[in-house]
Amino acid sequence: MSVVENLRKIRETLPGNVRLTAVSKFQPESVLWEAYNAGQRIFGENHVQELVPKYEHLPKDIEWHFIGHLQANKVKYIAPFVHTVQSVDSLRLSEEINRQAGKHNRKVNVFLQIHIAQETHKFGFLFEEVEKLLAERAFDALKNIRITGLMGLATFTGDALQIRREFSSLHAFFLKIKNIYFASDTFFNELSIGMSDDYLIAIEEGSTTVRIGGKLFGERIKN
Ligand SMILES: *Cc1c(COP(=O)(O)O)cnc(C)c1O
Repeated sequence: MSVVENLRKIRETLPGNVRLTAVSKFQPESVLWEAYNAGQRIFGENHVQELVPKYEHLPKDIEWHFIGHLQANKVKYIAPFVHTVQSVDSLRLSEEINRQAGKHNRKVNVFLQIHIAQETHKFGFLFEEVEKLLAERAFDALKNIRITGLMGLATFTGDALQIRREFSSLHAFFLKIKNIYFASDTFFNELSIGMSDDYLIAIEEGSTTVRIGGKLFGERIKN
């Protein structure tokens, strides 16, 4: 099955308000070009050293989203061009993105990554941590970032009910903090949940952005 065909099939399943982040990690540029030529404009990568050359070689109207664990000392390499960092998991990282984006007079969108899975090795804030930071207005001084949503990864399990529960709890949290802390903010709109195997559940549970790799591009060599 071709990338173009996969993309067409996935698009048919996405409601109008749901956007597709094409997760192109470990894929060669030729494959990204196929998706680009079929109209895809949002690409997600999770390694800085892979993202930078792809940014340099591919067209400039692509929205690059960083979706993996980002080390603060690497922010400077992507700050000139990254559109959204979906995986902000600490205040310190948000401060560094703000600082580096400021050097380029840019505003970078960020999603706060929330830990909803059972595995402890997955990254992200706890619900309480985010509420505390928002209540303290810890992000207000960071003028070169804009918090535009939340991101979460479900537990790696075949238990669809558990996945649904995790997504549903994040959606409820999203609505709660939107109501309390972003009531007068028109930018805080994105809930990034759902990958190849669980994105249909995620959409039912309020996802506005799905991050799809395997189902679009086929098998990767690594994860
Ligand atoms: C790799 C990855 C994806 C895509 O996973 P697939 O199962 O290939 O769709 C989504 N989100 C994150 C954070 C990833 O690292």
